[in-house]
Formats: sequence, C-alpha cells, structure tokens
Amino acid sequence: MAAQTLDQVVNLCKRRGFIFPGSEIYGGLQGTFDYGPLGVELKNNLKRLWWQHNVYERDDMEGVDTSILMNKYVWKYSGHEDTFVDPLVDCKTCKGRFRADKLNECQCLLHPKLKPGECEGQLTEPRAFNMMFKTQVGPVADDESFAYLRPETAQGMFVNFSNVLVSTNRKLPFGIAQIGKSFRNEITPRNFIFRVREFEQMEIEYFVTPGVDEQVHEDFIKDHVDWWVNVVGLSRENLDMYEVPAKDLAHYSKRTVDLMYKYPIGWEELEGIANRTDFDLGSHSKDQSKLGLTAKVIENEHSTEKLTYFDHVTNKHLVPFVIEPSAGVDRGVLAALCEAYTEEKLENGETRVVLKLKPALAPIKVAVLPLKKNEPRIVELAKSIKNTLLAKGDMRAVYDETAAIGKLYRRQDEVGTPFCITVDFQSLDDATVTVRDRDTMGQIRLPIADLYGYVRERI
Ligand code: ATP
Repeated sequence: MAAQTLDQVVNLCKRRGFIFPGSEIYGGLQGTFDYGPLGVELKNNLKRLWWQHNVYERDDMEGVDTSILMNKYVWKYSGHEDTFVDPLVDCKTCKGRFRADKLNECQCLLHPKLKPGECEGQLTEPRAFNMMFKTQVGPVADDESFAYLRPETAQGMFVNFSNVLVSTNRKLPFGIAQIGKSFRNEITPRNFIFRVREFEQMEIEYFVTPGVDEQVHEDFIKDHVDWWVNVVGLSRENLDMYEVPAKDLAHYSKRTVDLMYKYPIGWEELEGIANRTDFDLGSHSKDQSKLGLTAKVIENEHSTEKLTYFDHVTNKHLVPFVIEPSAGVDRGVLAALCEAYTEEKLENGETRVVLKLKPALAPIKVAVLPLKKNEPRIVELAKSIKNTLLAKGDMRAVYDETAAIGKLYRRQDEVGTPFCITVDFQSLDDATVTVRDRDTMGQIRLPIADLYGYVRERI
C-alpha cells in the first residue's frame, strides 16, 4: 500500500533522519526545514541526477552558481518589485492571514477542521503582498542599502547571459542551468516541505531564436516528464500537465505548463515550464529601443549591458526567447518519498515499511551487516567489504552491527537501501556473502569479488 497521508511520510522522515522541522528546539520557524543525515544524501542524489541529465548529457548547456544577493535593480527590471505578489486576506475574527487563492490549503485558526471563510469569521478584501524577503547590505541602514533574497534563481542566469555567451563561444540555441536556494515569504507555508519559505530550485534558461520557441517548449515538457518517470521513478499516472490559463500567467510568460504530481494532499505543482519570451533579457538591457528591437522593452538606464545576440546569418542583433523549466528540489524530494513509501503486510501479521526508491536515489546503496558481532573474524571481513565498496568512490556503503540481523534489515528497508550484504561463518570459508534485495526480500549467495559489479549494475 502506498502512502495514504502526508503524515506517514512526515513521521518516517523525522524518525529516520531525513527531514526535521527548522529550529525545532526553539519551537521552530514556520516554513523552514532541515535535511538530516539521510535527507541530505537523497536531496544531493536528486540534484546530481538532474545535473547529469540536463547539463552533462547535453551538448548545448552550461552550468552556473550565482549569488543569492543581487543588485536591487535586478528585481525592479525583472518586474518582481511590482508583480511578485500574492493576494492576502485577513480574518476579522481569528486574525489569521491567508493566501486568498489557496484558501483550500489553509485552516481556520479557531476551527482547524474548517477552511477560512467556512467559519463565522469574515474575510477582508484581498490585497497584494510582495513575497520577496528584504535584507540590509553593509553597515549603514538607509533607503538605498537594502537587497532582496532572490525569489528565483533565474535572474542570476539572465544577468550573466553575455558573460556565458562570450566566455564559452556559444551559438543559439544554448542553455544555462543552475541549482540553488530561493526565498519566498509565503503567506501560508504548509504541507511539510511542499510550500516553504526557503527552498531550492533546479532551473534552466534555454535561449533560442524567436520563432522556434514554441517547439522547444514542447520538447522540454516531454523530456522533463520522461525524466521524472524514468530517472526519479514517479509513476506516469501520478503526473499530469496543467495548461496555465492566460489570466493566471506570470508577467513574463507567453505560455506556462505546470507538471502536477499527485501528492497525498492532492494534485499540486512540481515543476513549471514557461515560455518567458524576450521579457527578461529585453528589460535588463540598456536602451534596447536604439537597436530597433520589437521586444517588450523598458528603457533601463541602470544596466550597462545589451543582452543581445549577434546573428551572423542575418547580420542583426536579436533578443533571444527563453524557455524555462523550473523545478523545486524539495517538491521533487517529497514526490520521490511519497511515491516510494510502501506498507506491506507480511505473512506473520507484521507490517513492513519500505521505501522503494530508485537505487540511484537511495541515500545508502549497500549496508554490510555481520551475522555475529561477537565474532572478530566476521566483523573484520564485513568492515573490509564495506571499505572496499566505499573506496570505489561511487556508492555509499555503511557497516551496521547495532541490532540483530532481522531488525537491521527492517531499518534498511525503511530508509530505502536497495541491498543488504550479510557476512556469516560460511563467508570465512568460501569468500561468499548473502545479498538481500530490498523489494523482494529474496536472497542470493555471491562471491565477494563479484559484489561491486553486481550492485553497480543495479544502481
Ligand atoms: P505555487 O503556485 O505552488 O506557489 P509557483 O507557480 O509560484 O508555485 P514557480 O514560481 O513556477 O512556482 O516556481 C518554480 C518551482 O519552484 C515550482 O514548480 C516549485 O516546485 C518550486 N517552488 C515554488 N515555490 C515554492 C515554495 N514556496 N516551496 C517549495 N517549492 C517551491
């Protein structure tokens, strides 16, 4: 049986050290979470697989890692100062503040079973609330010394468009990819790591000649759905595509398709894939109108750059169009956990909790377990097997002797370890070990010399 409620996944994450509430010993800080020993491995594996697919396996992509703090004019000309707002309503009775377009995700503060507005409380008219966090840069606090924490990683790629273009000698089409933290002062952070105030994004800005943008947009949608299914292991029936209606499009978008995942809380956005047109490059450029460009251009006296591309075929400058796939790392981790969480009834009546993660995502690939921890020769051999696997440098192997073997198997099942290797007395005689498969619980006997090849092939 798969996860029926988010609480099942939340409890497992806390119990086994995947994810903890942020600043917990001080009562927490709403909308923040800390990744624990296993969570950091899972999250890093997800990011590594994304980078592998979107950067290394393509000939047309470059990676960057840009600053979280940016010049405040970036956010003026990107349009975020004026339009990065959510509608906020107040309840006159319970004094709660809620996001007007997500009331279904909220609870009345006095009657948690009811949504705001379903109780006797009266809601105010919605008003615009800007979600960017402000901070001060430098020791003098005045009207000029503030900066925003970035609410998307995208702008770091737009402002570096010319740097990357020139330093890599790229021609259109090409893309810039980045994974990094973003911050949004969400009105109602909710649902564990689904909606938080500090999160990570995996984003691509893919630059194309105007005119081919619509086809490239389609190609990315298909490619990214396939990646979530084939690499992350989400079932295709748990993924859907939502065509964002024109009235809900972000200020920069000509068309956006949201990839929706069926979380236990319902269908929610996992990744947004937008056609950002020439909006951002155009508005960051100085006095584009002199170039005779038709883009939605704003006269930008603060930028010293022209973010254009010189097309040697037409001998003209153009502002590339941009296709942007933007996925949340945390929402990806949550989807992978929900998909993998399984409860199985065993013949003896017990319930086995097992995380059926794709082996490539699993925090630990192999657990090496001694059948007897009081037998020094077994312990020594088990530790040396673990060290040999670790020394290969491409898989996390652990040694564990802290419980009886049955209990150790259950613990590894719960954290998604695909293989348990047990060293017993026979191992001392014939240099073979037992390899147990997480999903089938089936066991086979293998020579120690073949272990690495066997495990490597399966992850
Ligand atoms: P939503 O409608 O759920 O608020 P959004 O449309 O504002 O999301 P985008 O601006 O498209 O989100 O951001 C791209 C991706 O970043 C989203 O698909 C999501 O995976 C992730 N993301 C955005 N906001 C958050 C958040 N508050 N917490 C966690 N992940 C987020």
